[in-house]
Amino acid sequence: MSTTLSAPPLGLLLEDIVRRHRPRQDAGSVPGNIPFLATVPFDRFGIAVATTSGEVFSSGDAGVPFSIQSISKVFTLAMALQGGRSAALWSRVLREPSGTSFNSLVQLEAEKGIPRNPFINAGALVVTDHLLEETPDAAAQLLRFLTEQAGNHAPEPGQHAPFIDEDAAAGELAGSSRNLALAHFLKDFANLTQPAGVVVENYVRQCSIMMTCVQLARAGLFLANDGQGTTGRVLAPSEAKRIGSIMLTCGMYDAAGEFAYRVGLPGKSGVGGGILVIVPGQCAICVWSPRLDAKGNSLAGTAALADLSDRTGWSVF
Ligand code: GLU
Repeated sequence: MSTTLSAPPLGLLLEDIVRRHRPRQDAGSVPGNIPFLATVPFDRFGIAVATTSGEVFSSGDAGVPFSIQSISKVFTLAMALQGGRSAALWSRVLREPSGTSFNSLVQLEAEKGIPRNPFINAGALVVTDHLLEETPDAAAQLLRFLTEQAGNHAPEPGQHAPFIDEDAAAGELAGSSRNLALAHFLKDFANLTQPAGVVVENYVRQCSIMMTCVQLARAGLFLANDGQGTTGRVLAPSEAKRIGSIMLTCGMYDAAGEFAYRVGLPGKSGVGGGILVIVPGQCAICVWSPRLDAKGNSLAGTAALADLSDRTGWSVF
């Protein structure tokens, strides 16, 4: 894979990124509504790069499972677009940046129950509802999808295949008043077919999937590879391109502009501290560090990606 001439080989570069960006002090925050996330040590930092030529490079805690949280939204959208019912989905959710926080109620009320995009919570609840019209358990379907895309092969000794942390999900569900409020709003505007509680419970279990940076980088590869996944075609090239566009404009909560400015690549973050980034035609990158900035994006992860894109020249611009 080509990087700028001054950059060291990728494996060494990732080691240097870990040395520079692994947090040395406990700065940043964790979300108050998900008790499990407060138990993760602040100094965890991992990064993995899966290339379209089939190689995987990684460093730091890239083999440690973490809670994927909103990164799940990229994959549930891909699953929804696979089904041949995309017109029905796009009549229920828009593709515009929200400019408000990911769980804001105000915009949904003002815009009559049509979420701005599939990557804010209201939009992901609609995507979940859309999937639940065809499967009894969208979270289990997502887990199968991610496991297959991550390579499906036996993990290294002592490592897990992707799994749903049901205890973490139960803990989050107990503090899900706001997501339930969003779901009830959607229901009131006739933009939810299943009961609000069923949709929220399934959505929270999707967010509670545990994966490593290596697994997530592999799983996201189809987005960098014209829709071609590790085991075959996942999406048409045009659909993969469109998901990349939505990641660029809507993937980082209301900091999408700042992230595009600093990193110049489509990304999706989760409040578990992970960020999945796509370099079209070249690779998928996953970085993880659990402490967040004020907008809910990984502090060290964002800094590391800005550094990596500067040093490699990877950018869509
Ligand atoms: N499960 C989290 C929530 O719904 C996901 C938030 C996120 O990662 O953006 O609050």
